[in-house]
Amino acid sequence: MSEQLMDGTQGGFETNRIRHVVSRFAYGPILLLALGVLWWGVDGGGPFSLGIVANSLYIFMLILIGALEFYIPYKQNWGTVRKASRADVLYFMAAAPIDYLHVFLLISILASTASYHHYVTVFDIWPSHTHILFQLLLVTLIVDFSKYWYHRATHEVPLLWRYHSIHHSLDRLEMLRASYFYPIDIFLTVAIGTLSLLFFGVDYEIIVFHNVFAGITGLLNHSNADLKCGFFDKFLNSPGHHRAHHSVGLPGSRSNYGSFFNFADRIFGTRYLPEDQSDFGPLGLEEGYNMPKTVLKQLAVPFRWNQVHPSPEADKSQG
Ligand SMILES: [Zn+2]
Ligand SMILES: [Zn+2]
Repeated sequence: MSEQLMDGTQGGFETNRIRHVVSRFAYGPILLLALGVLWWGVDGGGPFSLGIVANSLYIFMLILIGALEFYIPYKQNWGTVRKASRADVLYFMAAAPIDYLHVFLLISILASTASYHHYVTVFDIWPSHTHILFQLLLVTLIVDFSKYWYHRATHEVPLLWRYHSIHHSLDRLEMLRASYFYPIDIFLTVAIGTLSLLFFGVDYEIIVFHNVFAGITGLLNHSNADLKCGFFDKFLNSPGHHRAHHSVGLPGSRSNYGSFFNFADRIFGTRYLPEDQSDFGPLGLEEGYNMPKTVLKQLAVPFRWNQVHPSPEADKSQG
């Protein structure tokens, strides 16, 4: 009996140690894997088209991050895909068609027209001849700065906060909720990134690379997997930064608007990450909001704002 107990304890110790190692070291390799596969896709992708490489990678990441939510949950009570509500599933499913619409409007129609380089590309200086990884870095920095200002505006401009508040009504984060956005919000987030790249005449493949990579970091930032970022916290807008962004009250709720890097937040003084990342307090909206829970009612929120946030003098954005 005691031997059995000892074995069990030892087994538990081993299992915990593996969990600890995964939690401590998985973040970097996941990003590198995504980067490597997309680089390969942009660089030719062997017999596969970039679309196949990108979609396969995205599906693989959904499975991997979903599995990590089970294996190393950040908060046991936040739940996993098992606790998904109907709204979680509907928003998640709506993300793909919204993204296709963005690709159709901005790439298939706008960027492929003959006049694109005359009218959309303002600075026709893109260094297409340089190494792909250098272009990817440049693209990520440009998009980070444009998305930073869009995201910050959705918090600071009351009219935009009417729809961005729906994303911030989440009281717990998990991968499936990475697309929990009012449709126009998610469309503009992606479209503003793409448009800023079109201004510089960036090639289509690089734009696809960036959008897929941003999608994967979005999954990571919203997941309930306990991925410690350590060194990466210094320059990336890691999951800890995004949990702080979703927390109730200051300074977290007015911080970390960036996407991939945290340089924009550092430059404009909005980066915030506490030393202790084990608990960011309650997440969601401040008291006084009556945010409905169903998708249909949430779609009406911007038009019925007084019912959601009745106090007019408090009609200021927050996060
Ligand atoms: Zn936000
Ligand atoms: Zn979020």
